[in-house]
Amino acid sequence: RLPVLVGGVLLQHHSFQVITFVLDNSARKELEQRKDAFISMASHELRNPLTALKLQTSLLHQQLVKQSLQAPALSSMQTQINKLIRLVEDLLDVSKIQAGKLGYRQERVDLDALLHEVADTMQQIEATHTIVVRGATSCSLVGDKDRLGQVFTNLLSNAIKYSPHARTIEMDLSASDEAVTIRVQDHGLGIPREKRDKIFDRFYRVADPRQKAIPGLGVGLYIVSEIVKHHRGTITVESEPGKGSTFQVMLPQKRT
Ligand code: ADP
Repeated sequence: RLPVLVGGVLLQHHSFQVITFVLDNSARKELEQRKDAFISMASHELRNPLTALKLQTSLLHQQLVKQSLQAPALSSMQTQINKLIRLVEDLLDVSKIQAGKLGYRQERVDLDALLHEVADTMQQIEATHTIVVRGATSCSLVGDKDRLGQVFTNLLSNAIKYSPHARTIEMDLSASDEAVTIRVQDHGLGIPREKRDKIFDRFYRVADPRQKAIPGLGVGLYIVSEIVKHHRGTITVESEPGKGSTFQVMLPQKRT
């Protein structure tokens, strides 16, 4: 009887482990789902009042301009509101990616014009850094203009954010028959080798004392890599801690 009993105990012990594992897994899944639902709900709830505030401040601004009045406090409010809207929209994009619902348009995109547009807009907001754009005069591909603009904006905004001392950011565009390559180079903090694969993960941020004061949610590069993937492209990074980073996006040219 003993071996059977021992066998029975072993079997029970074994199934206990299996049950714990199944419970663990489903509890973790449920928590993940709840977290995703929370992010989606919270970002929707935050977006509406922010959009209303944006509208009201811009109306107020127009009225003041009509009376030839300057309102620096109002401009700074508008900048803060725009930053908050950007954060909330990033969170909404993460929810949409998780749900497989991030929509893409198919249109001809002039990448050269888009890159200049993004650089000009960023240069107006961030006067602290100089953005230099170099490269091919004309190249286009089929994709989603706004989403590709979001890729360049995010990379540029990171390059600025993580370069508190080095003030020049270079963007560079080159094209072959098959592909377009966009590089965004900074001379800032850099990324340690062992962290380079992880920075594209959802909610991942490099835990470095020098980066602690730099704000962020750790979703920008996750969204960037999803958009690049959707366009059948690749994104890679070269970096040297203390010297800077270069992000390279390669997008295949799909002729129409
Ligand atoms: P966030 O900037 O909001 O933290 P991202 O997903 O855009 O989120 O980036 C993830 C992490 O990758 C950042 O927290 C930062 O540690 C690192 N990182 C991204 N871009 C750069 C860069 N240009 N230079 C140095 N570190 C970077």
